[in-house]
Amino acid sequence: MVENFADRLAKVKNQIRQAAEKAGRTAEEIKLVAVSKTHPPEKIAEAIDIGLKVFGENKVQEAERKIEEIGRGGAAEWHLIGHLQKNKARKSVQLFDVIHSIDSIELAERLERICHEEDRKSLPVFIQVDLAQEKNKAGISEKELPKLAEFLHGCQCLKFDGLMILPPFFEEPEKARPFFRRLREIRDRVLPGGELSMGMSHDFEVAIEEGATVIRVGTAIFGERQY
Ligand SMILES: *Cc1c(COP(=O)(O)O)cnc(C)c1O
Repeated sequence: MVENFADRLAKVKNQIRQAAEKAGRTAEEIKLVAVSKTHPPEKIAEAIDIGLKVFGENKVQEAERKIEEIGRGGAAEWHLIGHLQKNKARKSVQLFDVIHSIDSIELAERLERICHEEDRKSLPVFIQVDLAQEKNKAGISEKELPKLAEFLHGCQCLKFDGLMILPPFFEEPEKARPFFRRLREIRDRVLPGGELSMGMSHDFEVAIEEGATVIRVGTAIFGERQY
């Protein structure tokens, strides 16, 4: 059986509502970022038609042509959720509304400088935290986090909105729960009341129970990605 796009979205929204209720929260507290990576602009236009507005992309170059085609502002809001290489920093400042993947002071410094140069008055950012200490995985360690947080607090253009995590992949979503919980505890310490970007297609309900305020959902909305 092939579910259609609108049905999948309705199902996700229902799951969001139920997970929120279970945690004594409301669905309105949770922002849904529809992860559109690998999907063509036509598909994103369809998503807009059924009421989606906020999109997540993980590659700057791939996002560029989509953002040019779809537009920004009234049309759509664009979040960079993938690792950001320093040489793509300027392009990201020009293209994205929000960046979820700040993971070093050098990157933050560069973005802050570019925002000044490009006259970008405010750029909301999240720090990506790596709690699993996985090799080759983006994100800053818990130990290094306070220094980066302090740096962001002092920035004029970068606006430190919250923390983001991409935990190791587990078949069983419950196994991600300790990572989500730990991120919330860290958030309470470094940025009380700040946002928590956590939870993907297979584990967003657990993330919501643990306090996610932004979830990044691709497959459950768009279907399987074709590379
Ligand atoms: C691809 C991606 C997602 C969405 O993954 P799905 O499993 O398709 O929901 C979320 N966050 C990041 C950082 C991603 O790269």
